[in-house]
Amino acid sequence: MTASGRDLLRLLDQVGEGVYFTDLQRRITFWNKAAERISGYHAREVLGRGCAANILIHVDDRGRQLCLGGCPLARTLQDRRRRRADVFLHHREGHRVPVRVRVFPLLDENGKVCGAAELFVDTSEKPALEERLQRLERMAMNDRLTGVANRRYCEIFLQARMEEFRRLRWPLGIVFFDIDDFKNVNDRHSHRVGDLVLKTVARTLRHNVRAIDLVGRWGGEEFLVVLRSTDLRNLKLIAGKLRVLVERSLLIEQGKPVRVTVSGGATLARAGDTVTGLVERADLLMYKAKKAGKNRVASSR
Ligand code: GH3
Ligand code: MG
Ligand code: MG
Repeated sequence: MTASGRDLLRLLDQVGEGVYFTDLQRRITFWNKAAERISGYHAREVLGRGCAANILIHVDDRGRQLCLGGCPLARTLQDRRRRRADVFLHHREGHRVPVRVRVFPLLDENGKVCGAAELFVDTSEKPALEERLQRLERMAMNDRLTGVANRRYCEIFLQARMEEFRRLRWPLGIVFFDIDDFKNVNDRHSHRVGDLVLKTVARTLRHNVRAIDLVGRWGGEEFLVVLRSTDLRNLKLIAGKLRVLVERSLLIEQGKPVRVTVSGGATLARAGDTVTGLVERADLLMYKAKKAGKNRVASSR
């Protein structure tokens, strides 16, 4: 299989490293998405322009402007050698960004140098640290299998919402969902398919609540949905909608559909409730729905 030049350029837009190409006159002929992100310059602002023309204006750690001499790209155009260097590029907003650049010669069919490619990564410490913190935060908050909030985060979130409810009387509702006969899914298919079903249900719930609401995995095949600014009528409507959407979603496993249903318990926060009390009430309502035949929602104030 061969990829066309266009495919390759499109692919380069997906990589995390900044990439640009120049011709022999150091005019920019390609500028990928990461280059836009790192430098702040949009491709349309730089394409066709000389890379020395007040765009990146790389400087070294002594502040020397490399465009005026010692530009790694210019040297590669001359001697065809690859190089790497730590330099500082000029961001569109004015500040300097430390980057590690790698320069490669571009050759035509006859092996003659026809341009150069520069790859660059942002080496600032802060974004890397922030990214790591964000990743840790995500890891601490999310359920690994399904990607929705984990139980601990549900509890923290509920605690905060209960506080708002107590102080400001902002209405709060929750729905406790439990997958019906989930043991059968594992037994009839496999644990792996069971895991896929959990992911599917989690996504169905997550994609069908508002951004301010929370979907979390409370336990094995139990999910909690926390809805803000809601009354009982609306809570029942949303819980019913989510139930139907789960019933109507299906996973195709080895050509065969795998379907599940959920039973739910929906209730509103009351004065004097604790988080535990509120969740227990929703759990009891869920059991009521199971007893009444499953694939339904029971609710109360
Ligand atoms: P009911 O309709 O009464 O809720 O029946 P059920 O079979 O869903 O309930 P039960 O509590 O008997 O079984 C829950 C099953 O969920 C048992 C357990 O093996 C399975 N389970 C829990 N966590 C996971 C998981 O992470 N992955 C998979 N594949 N299965 C899980
Ligand atoms: Mg259960
Ligand atoms: Mg169950």
